[in-house]
Amino acid sequence: MFKALIQGLIITAKHLAPSKLTTVQYPTVRLKVSDRFRGLHRLVPTQDREKCVACYLCPTVCPAKCITVEAAENEKGEKYPKVYQIDLLRCIFCGYCVEACPVEAIEMTGAYELADYKREDFAFTKERLLK
Ligand code: SF4
Ligand code: SF4
Repeated sequence: MFKALIQGLIITAKHLAPSKLTTVQYPTVRLKVSDRFRGLHRLVPTQDREKCVACYLCPTVCPAKCITVEAAENEKGEKYPKVYQIDLLRCIFCGYCVEACPVEAIEMTGAYELADYKREDFAFTKERLLK
């Protein structure tokens, strides 16, 4: 019986060894997500503006209808999104907006800590998406 007790303790000790831990000490330790992870969106900037040309393809394909785009023309006659906003409370992170964009102006990042307190903080405006 004593032998069985020792064997049991050895097995328990093996499972307590750090190399055997299957959980991480979040938030002290954060796991790196896969490159293919679909987290918070990001609008890709160019030198002097956003890459988006306000073509309306992403709000058209979005199954959750959570993208708002309002197009305008700048002084050079180029189309740009005067308003670009994603309501993250409705987004299902499907990535269709990224796939549909003809100029690769939107991408999804590895950011997943998206909790917040107020409903309005989930409205990601162009300025926030460009950061
Ligand atoms: S990830 Fe999907 S649901 Fe979210 S904004 Fe893009 S198309 Fe819409
Ligand atoms: S992000 Fe891409 S698909 Fe969406 S409006 Fe801009 S250019 Fe078009």
